[in-house]
Amino acid sequence: MKAAVMHGAKDIRTAIVPDPVCEPHGVIIKVKACGICGSDLHVYKQDGQEGTIFGHEFSGDVAEVGSQVTGITTGTRVTAVGFKPCGTCFWCKQGKGHRCSAMAILGYHFPGAMAEYVHIPFAVSGRTVFPLPAELTYEDAAAVEPLSISYFSVNRAQPKEEESVAVIGLGIIGLYALQVLKSRGVSKIVASGRRPARLAAADICGAHIIVDAAKEDAVKAAMEATANMGVNTVIECAGTQVTFDQSIAMARGGGKIMLVGVYEKDLIWNPQAVIAKNLSLTGCLGGNFPASIELLRNGKVSAKPLISHRFSLDEAGEAFRTQLEHPDAIKVMITP
Ligand SMILES: [Zn+2]
Ligand SMILES: [Zn+2]
Repeated sequence: MKAAVMHGAKDIRTAIVPDPVCEPHGVIIKVKACGICGSDLHVYKQDGQEGTIFGHEFSGDVAEVGSQVTGITTGTRVTAVGFKPCGTCFWCKQGKGHRCSAMAILGYHFPGAMAEYVHIPFAVSGRTVFPLPAELTYEDAAAVEPLSISYFSVNRAQPKEEESVAVIGLGIIGLYALQVLKSRGVSKIVASGRRPARLAAADICGAHIIVDAAKEDAVKAAMEATANMGVNTVIECAGTQVTFDQSIAMARGGGKIMLVGVYEKDLIWNPQAVIAKNLSLTGCLGGNFPASIELLRNGKVSAKPLISHRFSLDEAGEAFRTQLEHPDAIKVMITP
């Protein structure tokens, strides 16, 4: 089959690779849509990742079902979460493979969905493989994974309608976080980002106050929006020293900072402000596929305005260059 294979730093080529083999607990899915994730780009920029086939934000049709799998039939439209528990760690021994501390991840440790077919090694209907309601297109379904991360982060913060929330960093996770906040009726949503296309998208996604961080001071804007109190919650999706510092500065006393962005570099920080303001810093890594599918089904969240580019599998190299470099790129979608 065809797949988009990493040949070196910033070098992805579409090549012929062996077809996946269906394991007893696995399913094989014929891929219909697959998004490029910001996490993919972190790896894409590095040397030493030759052979990687990315792709964990995807959807398609079940093409083959393993002998031990029940409740999943071929031809079903699905999205899925791909991981392989190690089977030997503390959690795995308790039968809690979903908490495995050494799990292999689809699209990084084993081949992902930027291919004609993808193998999901641990297929459990409603747990890792999710049938799609008729309302969702394949592209909508490829948005479920990133949306689920945004949903998880917002849900963990439990913002109330009368509260103020700032989202820093307007990549796809930040933009979906805005939509989830809007769906919950949060009355003051501040969004801070840099690229014009993403600032425009923040408006569509429900932000009330949009800060162009290239020109304006995000902290000042958040303080002005809250009568100098600061925001109740910050969803930090950028993962940089500057945005981390901004988060602490703009959170009000007793506020929450949800850490979502991927930090490529170490931080230098003094926890004193966190102590003095009684802030809570919470790391967020998790998802909720059923809740995300429902948000897309009932139209409270929309994936379509965030898909900026589409490429075929043959054009995967160009798709990655676009996601990394094109100023208007939000979500680049590959449709085999
Ligand atoms: Zn992702
Ligand atoms: Zn394990």
